[in-house]
Amino acid sequence: MLMDCHTHTKFSFDSDAGPAEMLDKAKSLGLAAWAVTDHCECNCWYPREHYSGEVLSDHFDFGSDYERSVAAVTEMKRSDDMNIICGIEMGQPLQALDIAEKIVSDSRLDFVLASLHQLSGEEDFYFIKYSECASDRINSLCERYFREIYEMCRWGKFDILAHLTYFLRYMRENAPDISRYDDIIAESFRELIAKDKGIEINTSGLRNGGSETFPTLKYVKLFRDLGGELISVGSDAHTPQDIGSGTAQGAEIAAAAGFTRLCCFKKRKPYFINIY
Ligand SMILES: [Zn+2]
Ligand SMILES: [Zn+2]
Repeated sequence: MLMDCHTHTKFSFDSDAGPAEMLDKAKSLGLAAWAVTDHCECNCWYPREHYSGEVLSDHFDFGSDYERSVAAVTEMKRSDDMNIICGIEMGQPLQALDIAEKIVSDSRLDFVLASLHQLSGEEDFYFIKYSECASDRINSLCERYFREIYEMCRWGKFDILAHLTYFLRYMRENAPDISRYDDIIAESFRELIAKDKGIEINTSGLRNGGSETFPTLKYVKLFRDLGGELISVGSDAHTPQDIGSGTAQGAEIAAAAGFTRLCCFKKRKPYFINIY
């Protein structure tokens, strides 16, 4: 296991994991790089009044979980010799661009993952009941997903695009053949490559009996063949036991696609680790 550059702590709404126990596990695995990337769903950002006007930092005057995550990870970086990366998983940046612009200009962050969990006017892909959806609706969700991904890549102010094909994690047997979207995926990759940005191999799909990463080798190879240089690997762990899970296989997929090194970011600059 070389790196795990996508993990969550209790400062994400869907995790109870204490930062200290996550650190202990990351250290015990001997990871060369470990990133904490708590959720920041731009479209769900609450106004300052939600926090009773509490001012948590000079940078943001609201957003308590975000501030607590950045503060906790900054403190761990200061007091521990492990290669800890202070990241964030920025969801739906284009749906609240003012919030996204603040995040990408926060100088405390080493690393910004960009995600699309939820289309405008829809629930998170996690919550949609696909077995009750007609195929037209499924196709429309997929098409809108890839169109918004393309627009995110055109904006491109993040470092790494997280878990491309996220919806497949939940759509499973109801999913269409996504090869019909290969052209817009390639266009999205070209936008990233032109801006020296990368994609992630998210290994969460290898857990619980799953067999596929997000995205699969086919798309990692497409990214490489188009000239992509920056490939990151992350487990998307929300518990200490899942840290590093599948990341060795993720590195093998990167190698099979033609990459010789993995990438993470420190101070928003690429940082490389050789695969072999
Ligand atoms: Zn995510
Ligand atoms: Zn995540």
